[in-house]
Amino acid sequence: MKNLVVITGASSGIGEALARQMSALGHPLLLLARRLEKLEALALPNCICAKVDITDQASFQAAIDNAVAQYGPVDLLVNNAGVMLLGQIDSQSAAEWQTMYDVNVLGLLNGMQSVLADMKERNTGTIVNISSIAGRKTFGNHAAYCGTKFAVHAISENVREEVADANVRVITIAPGAVETELLSHTTSDEIIAGYQSWKEDMGGVLAAVDVANAVSFAYRQPQNVCIREIVLAATRQQ
Ligand code: NDP
Repeated sequence: MKNLVVITGASSGIGEALARQMSALGHPLLLLARRLEKLEALALPNCICAKVDITDQASFQAAIDNAVAQYGPVDLLVNNAGVMLLGQIDSQSAAEWQTMYDVNVLGLLNGMQSVLADMKERNTGTIVNISSIAGRKTFGNHAAYCGTKFAVHAISENVREEVADANVRVITIAPGAVETELLSHTTSDEIIAGYQSWKEDMGGVLAAVDVANAVSFAYRQPQNVCIREIVLAATRQQ
């Protein structure tokens, strides 16, 4: 059997597409999200589904330890879970900022902490952090979200440098707009409508599988090759 792959936020969108792809490639999986029923509905073989809020380090670590006991060490962790709550800073609730920083930044740190000591000891392993093109440039109504994704880029690159000597790869994937549930959590109908017409004007956006393909491509390079960053977007996205 191939090596264990862990994917956060596999209950929809990019994480779900990647889970299907990694399963088809023969990897045993640990899939994490809060909606356990959506993970279980994927019905993938050699797959542990765990109801974990990634902001809770203890339950994240316990899920990893349980999967390692069953399938062996984690070879790939994909920190994919994320939340995008668009808004204007003068009117958006602080609770929305908190949620984004907790999930997009602290949840990702929790994930790296859960696997890195073991990867460094074994001198192998790969972490893929799903950032965003909003971690490279700014967009209207995205200030707090962009802050989290710029942080993901900075953290990923910093950790990559720190663990390079241990032969561990840290890869940042930065997609442009993708058709998933992500936008649906924004509370302003006006912002949602504006975003939808922006997507229509460019003739559509990426599919989740396009991003999964980029993750798989980077992961499947030999361990001595680290694709540090991939930025991908619909060709017509500015
Ligand atoms: P979805 O909303 O479809 O998926 C988000 C996933 O994150 C869900 O599986 C959700 O599961 C999980 N999640 C959210 N909060 C938590 C939490 N506290 N604990 C555990 N899991 C959580 O969106 P995408 O697939 O689009 O998003 C995946 C990643 O891609 C995100 O990091 C996003 O920022 C990034 N991205 C997306 C783009 C897009 O346009 N869609 C563009 C660029 C980047 P559950 O609710 O079951 O917990």
